[in-house]
Amino acid sequence: PKPLATRIAFVTGAASGIGKAIATRLAAEGACVVVADLDLEKSVAAATEINELIGSTDVAVGLAANVADEAAVQAALADAVLAFGGVDIVVNNAGLSLSKSLFDTTEADWDLQHDVMAKGSFLVAKNAARILVDQKLGGDVVYISSKNSVFAGPNNIAYSATKADQAHQVRLLAAELGEHGIKVNGINPDGVVRGSGIFASGWGANRAKTYGIEEQDLGKFYAQRTLLKREVLPEHVANAVYALCTPDFSHTTGLHVPVDAGVAQA
Ligand code: NAD
Repeated sequence: PKPLATRIAFVTGAASGIGKAIATRLAAEGACVVVADLDLEKSVAAATEINELIGSTDVAVGLAANVADEAAVQAALADAVLAFGGVDIVVNNAGLSLSKSLFDTTEADWDLQHDVMAKGSFLVAKNAARILVDQKLGGDVVYISSKNSVFAGPNNIAYSATKADQAHQVRLLAAELGEHGIKVNGINPDGVVRGSGIFASGWGANRAKTYGIEEQDLGKFYAQRTLLKREVLPEHVANAVYALCTPDFSHTTGLHVPVDAGVAQA
């Protein structure tokens, strides 16, 4: 059997970018996956793509869920349980980045960033943990946080604050859920340009302009700043999520794994 053959994963923001790569990798390793994203059509399209890749029709399902809305989160988790009989891998990946300077960041910007990433990931973790605890089978909760949870940079105050919030959620949940055999870990990616909707939005173009380069060279530009001189792709983040969910990491909880080609140390 495949390594994750008995597992059921609920991945938020999985219609695009890093989340889609995570859902795809977990499915390839044998898990059933729920693609939960804002737009039903996009979630279903991503799930269909995953099924086709795996050569199946029912390994992945797509659901609409705004993580900032608790009723929607609860409904999506209930649908996941209906579809697959439970949930035991939860990936808090949904996010967006407004990337504004201190003085450009409005109250509404602050609220949106915090609603989706700080509150949203809390709502998903809390409601999913209820299911995991009741199942008595242990499980994994993985947050896709960011290098920005620890390191400061310009033009990112609201985004980075939510990532620091997520990092502490990881530690607090690891403490509270450990006795139930539930591991809670985080990933700190950085510079995932190709395949990421965050960079595909106007933000990537703005960054390229700041550095005086072409937008299509942004990935290479970020790679040059890393210790390994390697570009980070969504698949590299997915690899780390997969690894954390395997028995090889059975005794690891409350950890943040950098997937940044060493840029945080550069
Ligand atoms: P992306 O835009 O490709 O994917 C984000 C997904 O989240 C989108 O499909 C979007 O629809 C979904 N989403 C947004 N708001 C939502 C909501 N309220 N409810 C449900 N889904 C919602 O971007 P990505 O780069 O793949 O980002 C995924 C995660 O990785 C984010 O949390 C981001 O902060 C984090 N991250 C990305 C990078 C990077 O370099 N790209 C670096 C560090 C961390």
